Amino acid sequence: MKIKFWGVRGSIPSPGPNTQRYGGNTTCIEVRTDDNELIILDGGTGIFPLAQQLLKELPLTANIFNTHSHWDHIQGLPFFIPIFIPGNTVNLYGAFDPISGAGPERIMNIQMQYSYFPVREAEIQSRMNYLTVMPHEVIKIGNTTITPTLLSHPVVNLGYRIECNGKSMFFTGDHEPHYNIYEPQDDGYADYQALIDEQRQAIVDAMQGVDVLIADSSYTVGEYPSRKGWGHGTFDSCIEMAKAASAKILYCTHHEPTRSDDDLEKVFAEAVARQNCKTVDIRIAREGDEITI
Ligand SMILES: [Zn+2]
Ligand SMILES: [Zn+2]
Repeated sequence: MKIKFWGVRGSIPSPGPNTQRYGGNTTCIEVRTDDNELIILDGGTGIFPLAQQLLKELPLTANIFNTHSHWDHIQGLPFFIPIFIPGNTVNLYGAFDPISGAGPERIMNIQMQYSYFPVREAEIQSRMNYLTVMPHEVIKIGNTTITPTLLSHPVVNLGYRIECNGKSMFFTGDHEPHYNIYEPQDDGYADYQALIDEQRQAIVDAMQGVDVLIADSSYTVGEYPSRKGWGHGTFDSCIEMAKAASAKILYCTHHEPTRSDDDLEKVFAEAVARQNCKTVDIRIAREGDEITI
């Protein structure tokens, strides 16, 4: 299985000299299975340069798995050029959205209307399939399995475990570790803590033993308190999660748009030193980086 990063930035694209080394595109990861099936995790702006690359191998079947419908994970989808070329098949997998009651079709319907985009969804030329997936449902693409898991974010966010020929990876999308909303002296504290412990364990179980874990490490521990509840993790929480799940390699991703390359390396190094974790190979996700497992 081959994994390539096309977008590693969170929230909003951040081009410019300060982000040149790690890249400014929002979330998009290309996964090639051993049978060369194409899986794409999220359609942030990184999917646009990926689409340019894919024009060399048409017709294609693209399996896009969307973690959730926030802009930085969908805004590149209308620019995924293969959707405008007949003969291609694009399968868009995503969660049921409890706010709108819709599945992943809404991601395209809402963006591809004249108010926001010059081409309507109805004008898509490829075969476009919208597939609503549920947590724990096992999806098969060739001999690869994809299993969604519910993570913690202000909207339904599915993390995906991908397994092929004994190798595995897990991508969180956006995830903030569950936290107790009660104070220790409150009546509900203990019960709520038991629930959180269960939820945290279920997530660690879902990513148990993966070769590669790609996780939302937007913030430093110092930044986190003022951003609690925004739905993102820290470098430290990701390292702890990777350790608990016995992941072999951790890629920290969803970099803060205001974080320069130099700052990113600095806060990353501080977290790695603080955690002193010997069992996980911890890396910063960088646009253009590729790994074969
Ligand atoms: Zn995001
Ligand atoms: Zn989000």
